[in-house]
Amino acid sequence: MISCSLILTQELRRLRTAAAPDDSCALRRPANHVSNPPGEFQLIERLLKRLGPGRRAILGPGDDCAILPAARARQLLTIDSMVEDVHFKLAWGTPEALGARALTVNLSDIAAMGGAPRFCLVSLALPDWANRKWTGAFYRGLLKLADETGTSLAGGDLSRSEKLVCDVMVCGSVPAGKAIRRDGARPGDVVHISGPLGGWRHRPTITPRLDLGRKLRGKATSAIDLSDGLSLDLHRLCVASGVSAALDRVPLLDGATERQALHDGEDYELLYTAPPGLRVPGERIGVITKGRPGAVEYRGKPMPILGYDHFRNRR
Ligand SMILES: [Mg+2]
Repeated sequence: MISCSLILTQELRRLRTAAAPDDSCALRRPANHVSNPPGEFQLIERLLKRLGPGRRAILGPGDDCAILPAARARQLLTIDSMVEDVHFKLAWGTPEALGARALTVNLSDIAAMGGAPRFCLVSLALPDWANRKWTGAFYRGLLKLADETGTSLAGGDLSRSEKLVCDVMVCGSVPAGKAIRRDGARPGDVVHISGPLGGWRHRPTITPRLDLGRKLRGKATSAIDLSDGLSLDLHRLCVASGVSAALDRVPLLDGATERQALHDGEDYELLYTAPPGLRVPGERIGVITKGRPGAVEYRGKPMPILGYDHFRNRR
């Protein structure tokens, strides 16, 4: 972890210097501003080339979870941040709902790999306004979902911050050889999603699809959870698998537009592929094709990749 943090710090410092030497906030500005910093996807790609998979990892950074060897199974490791005014607004919900959401976004990654959660670590940085009552309610929401999903809270950290920041790390497990990765889609596979889409505006609550993920073991050839929008997450899956995709439909949540379903983030449904003719749960939305890796068509036309990018989008 130390070497990862060091490389990340050095990379961010170098990019800030290169982007705008007189403005340390350049990375938070949209792409059409004076500076033109690399997007989140480009930054991750650059970091992955430097980090590599790690000596003991079966699968390193770049998928929904890392995979580590264990005695009878494989360990799945994932971590996600929630930052006030970046990932959420306080006005969006109760502290209980926020606590549940902080865990859900990580459980969704475990679900995408076909795994079961085992334990979590929670690091919380609290502003001055967050009193004991608020903090207690946050943990109540988190622990309720942890109990329901068999996830033990193994530890964590508390500190102060101007904005609320919550980092949750989840460790899960999956039988050896059964993890569903992003890189297994093949031309001819059918593309499915676990439910209708519409993005965070139309989805007040999110549910980790753990039961579905387990059912897809040995059936799905690839999977990813939809955190940053269908167009961007399908693009990522296609890049990892070296394939392209053609979509013909997308089911909509009530009140959502087609554009929101294609590009808005934080649906946390699963997107997965399966061989043609194999019955799997969910809704068929298209097929995997042989073409430029990462290219996606929607109803016969190239689809722009417009999902959420932390360094180019602002809500
Ligand atoms: Mg994910």
